[in-house]
Amino acid sequence: MTQLQIDLEKLAHNYNSLREKTTSTTKFIAVVKANAYGQGAIEIAQKLVSLGADWLAVAYTEEGIALRQAGIKCPIMVFYPQSENINRLIDARLEPALYSTAFITAFSKALLAKEITDYPVHLKCNTGLNRIGLSADDLTHFLAKKETFPFKLQSVYSHLGASENQKPCPFTQKQVQRFLSLKAQVEKAFSTPPLFHLVNTSGIFNYPEYHFDAVRCGIGLYGFANQADWDKTLQPIARLTTSIIQLHSVEKGESVGYNQGWIAPQKSQIAVLPIGHADGISRRFGKEVGGVWIKGQHAPIIGNVCMDMIMVDVSKIDCELHQTAVVFDAEHTTHQLAQRAGTISYELLTALSPRIKRVTL
Ligand SMILES: *Cc1c(COP(=O)(O)O)cnc(C)c1O
Repeated sequence: MTQLQIDLEKLAHNYNSLREKTTSTTKFIAVVKANAYGQGAIEIAQKLVSLGADWLAVAYTEEGIALRQAGIKCPIMVFYPQSENINRLIDARLEPALYSTAFITAFSKALLAKEITDYPVHLKCNTGLNRIGLSADDLTHFLAKKETFPFKLQSVYSHLGASENQKPCPFTQKQVQRFLSLKAQVEKAFSTPPLFHLVNTSGIFNYPEYHFDAVRCGIGLYGFANQADWDKTLQPIARLTTSIIQLHSVEKGESVGYNQGWIAPQKSQIAVLPIGHADGISRRFGKEVGGVWIKGQHAPIIGNVCMDMIMVDVSKIDCELHQTAVVFDAEHTTHQLAQRAGTISYELLTALSPRIKRVTL
């Protein structure tokens, strides 16, 4: 059976080790969007709250509502809220990032209709990633009218586009300069200024001088930090395994799988594993790009990845029915597997579908 084991003690190790990289007053925003990077939002969120995370953060409103429904009461930021479900966001007391003038207007209208004031919000500013965020002009307009909004401004933040790049990085320096200047502008406008934050996981490692009041950490909690030296301080928390459901031998010249994706170069032993692209193992891993580990030996995925299964070549491995196959673990990491297909651990982890059973240790 295919299962994703999650080691909450390793999560605690990562949390503590990341937290040690910040000062004792720095707030920790633990990012659990996309089902905690595919690893099970509820259990991971509960553990992070018990470890002392100051905020949880999700991408979308419905993800925050699911956490509330599971009984999680701590402050929850929503990075990318949308106007269609603002009332649901408010009813769940989630804290939105306000990222455009249009959203500020819609959000403030919804609060006024409910006669709510002092609602906790965050401002997301664009400093060069050019994805989402208030422009410098939007921010100036907001500050000029700030008394008219029913908001309690918790924090002002921006997001780096290349925080893992080697220093000095002129692009990041430009983003930082813009952030420092908007920070000064906001500080002037408030007698008690909000919190300021800029860095994600890679930035925690690469830019200790720019942690400001809080860090927003996602992938690091799950054991990766986008650079080998930084990865060493962390432990991948997930282990994905499956087991052989059928073994058969094929003669030289016979094909395996759809569209004859693999032709046996000699008489070969094939193992079938119940995990496929519907589980998050992309077709890009087919044709021997990816593989699994059986008794410590590498068994390449042969032919095309099917929806529910992959076939691996085990000709050189002495294995039997029901034998465990490791897709990734602390030793054979998600990062290494992702790299083989030209992608990143973020994508491989978040693609793991709900069909895979999550088991927390
Ligand atoms: C996802 C996200 C993060 C977390 O990034 P990691 O690289 O996983 O640490 C931080 N900030 C924002 C705005 C995000 O969307």
